[in-house]
Amino acid sequence: MQAYSLDRPERLRAHLALQRRLYEVRPDGQGGQHWQTVSSQDLHAFEPAAEPPPFSAKSFFFAERELLFRFEGGQFYSALPQVVPQVLFGLHACDLQAVAYQDQFFVNDPHYQARRQASLLVGIDCLHSCAGGFCSTVGSGPAVRQQTADLILLPRQSEDADWLLLVASEAGQAALQGLQLPQADDDWQAERVANEARVAAQQGAQEEIVAGIVQLNLDAIDSSTWEELGLRCLGCSGCTSVCPTCSCFAPLEQTSAQGGLQRERVWDSCLYQGFQQEASGHNPSATAGQRVQRFWAHKFGDAFKERFAAYGCVGCGRCDRVCPGAIGVHGVMHRLARP
Ligand code: SF4
Ligand code: SF4
Repeated sequence: MQAYSLDRPERLRAHLALQRRLYEVRPDGQGGQHWQTVSSQDLHAFEPAAEPPPFSAKSFFFAERELLFRFEGGQFYSALPQVVPQVLFGLHACDLQAVAYQDQFFVNDPHYQARRQASLLVGIDCLHSCAGGFCSTVGSGPAVRQQTADLILLPRQSEDADWLLLVASEAGQAALQGLQLPQADDDWQAERVANEARVAAQQGAQEEIVAGIVQLNLDAIDSSTWEELGLRCLGCSGCTSVCPTCSCFAPLEQTSAQGGLQRERVWDSCLYQGFQQEASGHNPSATAGQRVQRFWAHKFGDAFKERFAAYGCVGCGRCDRVCPGAIGVHGVMHRLARP
């Protein structure tokens, strides 16, 4: 990868914001965080949060609710989104891995692809583990994987040192045009390896996650264990909403303003009782335990890993934080590790 020395990340941000709409996660002043638009004149310091925000970048590409097409006067009208070039600035490795996963899932989806093709992704390496994260166990981080980003920022350990900027794609290189940056010294690979080792040590061996994955793929979990976990699922969809790789949606057909028909799609959740229910009334996942089992088979099943070349779980730990039944990833894997 081409490597440059960058005195201030704000200089890169201002340069990218000149030609694109740039988004960055910032505190909202009320204890929360939001994706916010940042202009090229914005003087705020770039301060990446130590913890990933409660939301990922998922909704930038896979909209929570959107119009797919209209049918009026005997004709279909497509409703592709109007996109403007955009930059997501400061994404962590786990969330970038999730975007790469979704890229494959939605490879033939014109709505997703329209937004995705208009996007430049700027990642940032993590120097310390977030609470509850286990990216090093599932291979999604903490260093941003080259194939998941366009540009990668590496804060240096020493406070007075310049940042490192790595070019991960042709689009990333093209975006730097007009920005004069010196080449970086060649010592950054060792620094990234050391960062990976430090974060992996902070995250620990994650023995329950590893053992749970083995048990799940051996099909060693009996239905009573899944039902025991299912009793704690309220079907609130918190986990599927925050999970950066969840992609279930439902069609929603309505009469359009012009008297025709329009189809939208809305985020759905495989933890909802009626998610798989068929028109006959048959439900292949009628019990909460079956639904919980299905969810985790999608996250850690070998077949999904083979198909997507990565686990469906990127180790962000968000489901742990939102689940009212304490059956986020650590809660479930703790139980699966001891069938
Ligand atoms: S967050 Fe917990 S309770 Fe809510 S749907 Fe997911 S597993 Fe069920
Ligand atoms: S299953 Fe949980 S830990 Fe894994 S990617 Fe989804 S929200 Fe993150």
